[in-house]
Amino acid sequence: MKKNLTKILCTVIILTFTNLAFSQTCATFEYESYLNSKFPGYFKALEQTRQLSLSESSKLNKADNDTVYQIPVVFHIVWNTKSQNIHDSLIYSQLKALNESFRHIHSDTGRVRSVFKPVAGDTRIEFVLATKDPNGKPTNGIDRFKTDQTDFGGNNGFAENVKSTFDYGVDAWNTAKYLNIWVCKFTYNGTPIISAYAFPPTNAQFWASSNFTASHLQGVVVNYQFIGIKNPNDFEPSSMREKTLVHEVGHFLGLRHIWADKNNTCIGEDDGLKDTPNSRAANRNCNPALNTCNQGAGDQPDMIENYMDYTPYPCTVMFTQQQATLMRYNLLNLRLGLSQIKTDLPPPPVYTKISVAPNPVQGNLRIIFEQQGIYTIKLTDMIGQSITSGEFAVGDAFEYNKPLNVAAGIYYLNISNGDNEVLKQRILVQ
Ligand SMILES: [Zn+2]
Repeated sequence: MKKNLTKILCTVIILTFTNLAFSQTCATFEYESYLNSKFPGYFKALEQTRQLSLSESSKLNKADNDTVYQIPVVFHIVWNTKSQNIHDSLIYSQLKALNESFRHIHSDTGRVRSVFKPVAGDTRIEFVLATKDPNGKPTNGIDRFKTDQTDFGGNNGFAENVKSTFDYGVDAWNTAKYLNIWVCKFTYNGTPIISAYAFPPTNAQFWASSNFTASHLQGVVVNYQFIGIKNPNDFEPSSMREKTLVHEVGHFLGLRHIWADKNNTCIGEDDGLKDTPNSRAANRNCNPALNTCNQGAGDQPDMIENYMDYTPYPCTVMFTQQQATLMRYNLLNLRLGLSQIKTDLPPPPVYTKISVAPNPVQGNLRIIFEQQGIYTIKLTDMIGQSITSGEFAVGDAFEYNKPLNVAAGIYYLNISNGDNEVLKQRILVQ
C-alpha cells in the first residue's frame, strides 16, 4: 500500500494544476533518498548519468543546430455534452500558441528578464495537425468521439480511461508516429483539480522509472476547459491557459519541473540542467525578487519565466537552451520516428487552370475553372470603369457561362483568389 502511494504521489509531479486550492505534494525526493540509503552511490550514479546525457545532447545540438523538427499531432475530442465538443478554432489557436512558445516567437517574449535573455531558447520543434490517420486516410488531425462517459476522472483525478475505446474513450493512434492529445472532462470528485498531465519518454534521463508508462498510454490529457485561447468553458478565460499544453509537452519530451519537485529544500535533486537556477519548490507567483536558493558565485534569481515552473501563466514565457537541447535529444533518441524534418513549404499554387473560351466572345462569357477556390471576377472597360464583378466559390471542374450584355469592344477580365490575381486577360466582345 505504501509503495502504491509513493507511485501515485510521484506521478503527481508531472501535472499542471489549476488555480483551485489544492495541496500538492510529491514524494520524489524522499523516494530517491530512500533509494540512496538502500543502494549507496545512487545519487552519484544519477549525477554521472545526467552529465553523460548533457554532453551527448550538446554534441547533437552542435551537429544539428538549424534543423527544425515537426511532430504530427492528433487531438482526440472525447465529448459528452456539447460544450465539451470544443470548436476547431480553439484547437487551431492552441496549436499556434504551442508553436510560438516552442519557437520562442510569441508576442510576450519581452517578459524574459535581461538576466535570462542569453539562455532563452528556440527549441526548433514545431507541431502540425496530422494529415493522415493510421489507415492512411486523409484527416484534419481532429478526431471527435461522443462518449457516454460523463467524467473521466477517477478517484485519483487522472483520466487514463479516455485512452481506451473499451472504457468509452479513444485508443491512441500509434504513439510512435503521433503526439496524441486527449481532450475531455475529468475531475477529482467533481472538481477539475488537474488541468492536464503527461508522461515523459520511457528511459528519459533525470526521471525515476516510476514515472514511465506503457507505449499505448503516451501522450497528453487536457481538460476540455483549459485548451485553446480564451476557451469559453474556462472559469477564468483570460488566464492564458493555452500555456498548459506547452508545459505538458515539455514533460512529454522529457523535461522535469525546474525545482525538480523538491519540497522546500535546495539540497538534492535538480532538473539536471545548468541554465535553470535551483529553487526550493514550485513558485506560484510572479514576484521577480524570488531567489529561494543561494547558489554562491553567479547566483541568479528563480526562473519564474520558465514554462516548467508553476508560476501563473502570464509570466511563463521561455524554455532555456539546455531544455531545448534535451527535448531535441529525447525526440530523436527516445521518441524515434515521431518527428519529421521540416522542409521549405512548396510555393503557393499557380492558378494556370483557368481559361476563357472562346475569345473573341460572342454572346456568353465562358470561363473554365479546373481548380477549386473562391474567386472574384471583375470586368472593366478600356478606361478602367467597372462593368461587372462578383465573387463565388467553385469546385474542381466548373464552368462559368453567362450572357455578357455589353457593347462590342475591348474589355479587361481580372480574376483573383483572395489577394492573388490569378488571371488578367484582354477580351474582345463582338
Ligand atoms: Zn508539470
